[in-house]
Amino acid sequence: MHDYPTTRLLIDGEWRTGADGDALPVLNPATEDEIGRVACATLADLDDALDATVRGFEIWSATSPFNRSGLMHRASALLRERTEVIAALMTAEQGKPLAQARIELHSAADTIDWFAEEARRTYGMVVPARVPGVTQMTLKQPVGPVAAFTPWNFPVMQIARKMSAALAAGCSMIVKAPEETPASPAAFIRCFEDAGLPAGVLGLVYGDPAEISSYLIPHPAIAKISFTGSTAIGKQLAGLAGQHMKRATMELGGHAPVIVAEDADIDAAVAALVPAKYRNAGQVCISPTRFLVQKRVADRFVEAFVNGSRAIRTGPGDADGTDMGPLANSRRPSAIEEMIADATEHGGKIALGGRRLGNKGWFFEPTVLTDVPDTARIMTDEPFGPVAVINRFDRIDDALAEANRLPIGLASYAFTTSGRTQQILRDRMRAGMLSINHIGLGLPELPFGGIRDSGYGTEGGPEAIDAYLDHRLVTQLH
Ligand code: NAD
Repeated sequence: MHDYPTTRLLIDGEWRTGADGDALPVLNPATEDEIGRVACATLADLDDALDATVRGFEIWSATSPFNRSGLMHRASALLRERTEVIAALMTAEQGKPLAQARIELHSAADTIDWFAEEARRTYGMVVPARVPGVTQMTLKQPVGPVAAFTPWNFPVMQIARKMSAALAAGCSMIVKAPEETPASPAAFIRCFEDAGLPAGVLGLVYGDPAEISSYLIPHPAIAKISFTGSTAIGKQLAGLAGQHMKRATMELGGHAPVIVAEDADIDAAVAALVPAKYRNAGQVCISPTRFLVQKRVADRFVEAFVNGSRAIRTGPGDADGTDMGPLANSRRPSAIEEMIADATEHGGKIALGGRRLGNKGWFFEPTVLTDVPDTARIMTDEPFGPVAVINRFDRIDDALAEANRLPIGLASYAFTTSGRTQQILRDRMRAGMLSINHIGLGLPELPFGGIRDSGYGTEGGPEAIDAYLDHRLVTQLH
């Protein structure tokens, strides 16, 4: 990639460097080479962004939902037109295969379109009165300027979910996007600018995440925050939001259980699960991670899963035929190596992989571990990498106990043809999302979010736009 740009901040409709000129390097995960730089915001820049977002909110909240919707559709059309260019930026900075970068951009466009339509349906309600002459109604109005914090694993999609719902509702937004993958978010936001979004409605900043969040969240101009990232950071930010009475949506970590019952179609399960496991090199909050397979079919499942994993072609994301790119940053290979070493020390077995690949770039082998005890760290901390842990169980109750053992509850999966088992899982799986006999999560019209330590709020479905709306009552005697 020859023309990877320097990424600037977007403040009040102007792309600019930070006030003190600081910039961070951006590295290509496949080569570890510096490919560009990203500007860092100072507190003075954040003040400008805050002033602009307040003005942006005045304009955008006064724009009719019909016109907001039209502009969002124009932005999604531009995003589709620019897919090839933005996908190349994303692959260069994040590592994922080009085909997956394209899918991410199409999903983002789909999300914008869905919320653009939803903008036109933010209906209030008229509640029948107890006495004549009274009209009682609920009104839905945008909460105000939003601060969003998004991670590097899906540089565009993570912003698209938050921004589409916020813009549809009539909110302005400052996005603190990921410093490690800055160019594709900037190119994405430019689609809205080029579609005619007024200055100030969207701001884009990068810099020191802790400094930016601790400045924006308590700031009186900000009415709501939305964060995607780890549970540990999410708890800190939710605490800060709580202290300042800010509404919050928290999309945090997962460690998705996959229950495979002995009555499942094993070949179909493996065919669905292998690509899901290695998508984005496993750096996905809904990645299947804790595989629980009923004893009678466990050997067969492990053999088929290992064969499928062995066929995954690992390489640079821009090379033809690559199924899995490198890990996105230098923290991931060492974190995963440590988890694998700890798992084997606790008695877990390596059925495939387990090591870094090559000595340049953050490549890691597709890895399958089996028979790992609960005491190993990988059974508690999400691997966030290309690692599947496959353990065996006797009874569905045992599998459910393991699935529900952790305090988190984001995605979960099950493969079973038994109607009774399906019902037990529907009733008792403690997770925000359960996908049975297929991988069916993440569409804009479906709720997307976790429960317990995986956070609160949803980033899909009609409820997602409600997170950006105040519900107000007006009751009037005529
Ligand atoms: P991290 O917890 O330091 O950072 C995660 C994200 O939060 C990053 O985008 C980072 O910029 C941001 N962040 C960190 N501190 C912040 C702060 N004080 N204020 C605002 N934003 C802040 O870890 P990491 O090394 O980037 O990723 C490691 C773990 O994070 C993974 O193992 C995974 O559990 C989790 N993660 C989850 C998602 C997701 O989609 N839910 C995405 C990326 C990372």
